[in-house]
Amino acid sequence: MKKWLVSAGACVLVLAGCGDGSEQETENEGMQVTVSFSILADFAEQVVGDRGTVEYLVPIGEEPHEYEPVPSDFQKVSDADVFYVNGLDLEEWLSGLVQNVGDVPIVELTEGIEPVPLEGEDGADPHAWLSPELAHVYIENLVEDLVERDPEGEEEYRENADAYLEELEELHEWTVEETDQVQEENRYIVMSENAFKYFGRSYNFETDGVWEINSHEEGTPGQINRLVDLVEEQQIPALFVESTIDQRYMETVSDNSGVEIYGEVYTDALGTEGSGAETYIDMMRHNVETIVSGLTQ
Ligand SMILES: [Zn+2]
Repeated sequence: MKKWLVSAGACVLVLAGCGDGSEQETENEGMQVTVSFSILADFAEQVVGDRGTVEYLVPIGEEPHEYEPVPSDFQKVSDADVFYVNGLDLEEWLSGLVQNVGDVPIVELTEGIEPVPLEGEDGADPHAWLSPELAHVYIENLVEDLVERDPEGEEEYRENADAYLEELEELHEWTVEETDQVQEENRYIVMSENAFKYFGRSYNFETDGVWEINSHEEGTPGQINRLVDLVEEQQIPALFVESTIDQRYMETVSDNSGVEIYGEVYTDALGTEGSGAETYIDMMRHNVETIVSGLTQ
């Protein structure tokens, strides 16, 4: 657990002698942070706290692989002090955006995470945030970058990050305990997009989907039949659907395999207001509870 906490010993108080400089900063508009999608917005807000504002581009309910930026997105990015993205090829639409936003620094928050390759395709899977075991890397990258850009806020950023890293550690330990209930032969997570690979690597689950990644979404009869065969062969007890994806593909898999869709999970966006999944931690608690109860029924 200790290694997840940002070392307090590394905290150099550059504010020393400046009195209440931090209060002056918050009277101004503070740091303007823009991120690519809603889950990164929650991470950034946790660290930025009262020292600035956080905006995100891809609206909740849409998935971040194939997004078409609207005019206000260009504004949000060009007005920002920094633009945080996931990286690992998630934001495939990024190149068209960044040519038109000036020289805003773009920082990838998955730096340091060992990529899981896509199956049968070139490239890395981007869904590292879906493993609570890896979420701390996003926060560590955020805090180091924010401290570099806004050194006067160092103490505040590190305090915010340390508090949140403790919550993430609790989420990880809880996830280990919960997932321990699932029998070895039932440790298989199946939904439309094969998005739980990092989660599977952390908590020992096999994963599969109608397709590998949403940007290559097809849902062809061949893809559906392959998944139906797998569900039958592996005797998978429950299927899941994502909040951001047309559910008809998994309904076909369910109809053809006779295995029920147990519930909805959040993969590429936070939940909408009132969903109980409006934050990363609540979203992952919902996901783990849904997956564990589906696979232990
Ligand atoms: Zn996705």
